[in-house]
Amino acid sequence: MASTTSFDVPSSVLIVGSGAFGLSTAWALCRNPQYRNTSITVVDRNSFPSTDGSSVDSSRIIRPDYAAAPYARLATIAQNRWRTDFAPEHYHETGLCLTASGPEQRYVGDSLANVQNIGLDKIEVLDSAQDIGRVCGLGRSEDDACGSTGYVNRSSGWADAEGAMVWLRNEVDKFNRVDFVVAPVKKLLFDFEKNTVSGATLSDGSELRADLTILAAGAWSASLIDLRGICKSTGQVVCYKPISAEEEAAIASRPVILNLSNALFMIPPSRGKLKIARHGHGYLNPTTIPHPESQDPKETITVSLPYTHVTDPNLIIPAEGRRACNAFLHSIHPSLAVPSRPFTTTRICWYTDTRDGDFLITYHPKYKGLFVATGGSGHGFKFLPVIGDSILECVEGRTPEEFKERWRWPEERVPEELWAGDGSRGGPVGMILEEEFRKSESKL
Ligand SMILES: Cc1cc2nc3c(=O)[nH]c(=O)nc-3n(C[C@H](O)[C@H](O)[C@H](O)COP(=O)(O)OP(=O)(O)OC[C@H]3O[C@@H](n4cnc5c(N)ncnc54)[C@H](O)[C@@H]3O)c2cc1C
Repeated sequence: MASTTSFDVPSSVLIVGSGAFGLSTAWALCRNPQYRNTSITVVDRNSFPSTDGSSVDSSRIIRPDYAAAPYARLATIAQNRWRTDFAPEHYHETGLCLTASGPEQRYVGDSLANVQNIGLDKIEVLDSAQDIGRVCGLGRSEDDACGSTGYVNRSSGWADAEGAMVWLRNEVDKFNRVDFVVAPVKKLLFDFEKNTVSGATLSDGSELRADLTILAAGAWSASLIDLRGICKSTGQVVCYKPISAEEEAAIASRPVILNLSNALFMIPPSRGKLKIARHGHGYLNPTTIPHPESQDPKETITVSLPYTHVTDPNLIIPAEGRRACNAFLHSIHPSLAVPSRPFTTTRICWYTDTRDGDFLITYHPKYKGLFVATGGSGHGFKFLPVIGDSILECVEGRTPEEFKERWRWPEERVPEELWAGDGSRGGPVGMILEEEFRKSESKL
């Protein structure tokens, strides 16, 4: 079995979750000759692609624009793959305009310094809302909507996330090595005397056993191990509307605009669809569940867990979220936000947030045989071409030096209200999903 000091190649690996973290890990295992005799199973509660997983959507921003230099460097490596041999048909290099009008300007400044250090030369500093409006082709530009300062990095872009996930699944299938199982994992297979995990029990009571279990269940990970004070699931609103071919042509090649202060962003339209979303503090959905690490079924914990269109096919996002997205669109492209053209589809997409925005990629400190790969914190997708290789490095005890502190299991659990975040989140704080539904006169 694996340990962080000496590494024995496991004879079987079970990956829970076929999102970006899980699927990329399965791909890395298939490509690495060390694992040629290892059996690989991936289990997901949904058939692929998992429509309420955070890795499956019309678009995700691909950027090296980070305030933290290690992520800027890793994203640069990933982006070179997007440009060349990793699903390049799903990657669009239209640029990213990163802006702010409040304290989030610090993140923008640090990010600018990092991309300048990397040596990117397609950068223009923008000193006013008017400059931002010019670069992004906005119909209107006001400080509080599009930000008052920022920069455009024309080397950034976005990818069709669902298309890229399907592309990667095809690549994995070509190896004919991975057994994909569609079933919800009910509980990990703990041995509380030996403190080991040896696979998972599915909802029908059957078991999937493995030497090494990699938990990559995204925002649902907190239902399978106790992540209180380490990860929390936050719901982010996403709104879509159809637009005409002429409207699309006018802005499709413009940069993504992301204003960190109001947390709202617009990804250029594609295939007749425009998307507005919020990269904010999100909604919490406190849910009381049996303690995932307890033998006593009466012992419970309360954690925020995803509530999605799979949980509730009639789910409509809270009115405040729809209003915020519409107000943003109205402030930057008024002609697209007229009352006769409402958003036709909405979604709550769930981040797996950590206290500082770092991923959690590490062995579980207590249970031998359990490795955790989660904590995407709203920015994990762009690493799809490389995150599986990074996860394997960590599995083998070779965590890259610059991520050792960032990706490890924290020494202590910190109350969520004290989390500092990574400085990239603005917008409303402390929203509870059920309360917002109630305010919207919707039912939870
Ligand atoms: C609205 C939104 C916008 C984002 N924008 C960006 C962006 O622009 N750029 C960027 O880089 N990143 C972005 N992200 C973040 C990025 O999408 C995530 O970090 C990344 O997709 C996380 O991947 P994952 O594999 O951890 O989770 P997921 O993709 O959610 O995968 C987890 C999988 O586990 C499965 N699962 C859960 N529980 C169980 C169970 N009990 N049994 C079996 N299977 C289970 C789920 O069905 C799911 O398929 C965004 C995220 C959201 C929500």
